[in-house]
Amino acid sequence: MPVKNRFAELQDEITAWRRDIHENPEILFETHRTSALVAQKLQEFGCDEVVTGIGRTGVVGVIKGKADTSGKVIGLRADMDALPIHEQTGLDYASKTPGAMHACGHDGHTAMLLGAAKYLSETRNFDGTVVVIFQPAEEGGGGAKVMCDDGLMDRWGVQEVYGLHNWPGQPLGSFAIRPGSFFAATDQFDITFEGRGGHAAKPHETVDTTVLAAQAVLALQTIASRNADPVHQIVVSVTSFETSSKAFNVIPQKVQIKGTVRTMSKDMRDLAEKRINEVCTGIAATFGGTADITYHRGYPVMVNHEEQTEFAAKVAASVSGSCGDAPLVMGGEDFAFMLEERPGAYILMGNGDTAMVHHPEYNFNDDAIPAGCSWWAEIVEQRMPAA
Ligand SMILES: [Zn+2]
Ligand SMILES: [Zn+2]
Repeated sequence: MPVKNRFAELQDEITAWRRDIHENPEILFETHRTSALVAQKLQEFGCDEVVTGIGRTGVVGVIKGKADTSGKVIGLRADMDALPIHEQTGLDYASKTPGAMHACGHDGHTAMLLGAAKYLSETRNFDGTVVVIFQPAEEGGGGAKVMCDDGLMDRWGVQEVYGLHNWPGQPLGSFAIRPGSFFAATDQFDITFEGRGGHAAKPHETVDTTVLAAQAVLALQTIASRNADPVHQIVVSVTSFETSSKAFNVIPQKVQIKGTVRTMSKDMRDLAEKRINEVCTGIAATFGGTADITYHRGYPVMVNHEEQTEFAAKVAASVSGSCGDAPLVMGGEDFAFMLEERPGAYILMGNGDTAMVHHPEYNFNDDAIPAGCSWWAEIVEQRMPAA
């Protein structure tokens, strides 16, 4: 059973939606135009219910099958937000908003889920209910959590949830998935070291915070290399180093460093937080300074549920011939919050040989639309088969 013919027919229309969304990117919860467009389309398709304002700018559509004897309710989720990146694709439908760009393909995810909603509204060839979920703020705002906190799962009685992400470098329209931990927990740290500033020619009269902070940056690398069991995944990256003086002849009073921690388990996450505190406090004390440490826990590990993963892989194979084994991804994904509330699965769909997501030359591949739409439609039709 290859891609559904109906999506080949709809491909031009879905592509036009995708390019319209691409041209008008919106960041975090500011997806006002996109949300309005989604809600308007869902109304046009004849969804049984369309609700806006769930999770601030999130949109929910409900489509009932021909029958509802199964009592099953499946949630399908797409993300709608763009990134604060200045687009450099040179496309004729490139972003019209300087400094904002659909560089993660959420334009494609939104358009494909709209395509699936159109098809499912037309055919209703299933026994149960579909809830299509369009969320804002995947890129750092935790929009999935805000929608869940607004009662998304309980209000519509969602029993299982499924999500999809395009993946550059993976063959176009192919699928790959893995059970269990899949995307990393993403935490942030922000540390201000304080010493005693002074004249750069009289270092003995100062507590040199630059030297102190530099030692800390190197020592933080030992969390991954010396503290963590090598069979577990952990990334500790210092990404910012700012001194409180930019002069060449001043030893600065303060240095602020920032960075991120990526882990695949609670143990590694706890270890990272504990060691960052110990290492930075200890080094600061050794050099006669202080460390003010903030550790912020962001998205949790995204964990695919076994049974739903097996089912999602079977559906992917029915659409595209086979389903590959996906690698662990040290990036974060806020669908993790939905998978904490309900069983479900998240799958990667090949975007072909394109720039990586979050690159200014990245673009979603419209030729993947029939495969992505078919996977969503088949999830519904195979999980809740009509009599
Ligand atoms: Zn992204
Ligand atoms: Zn993304």
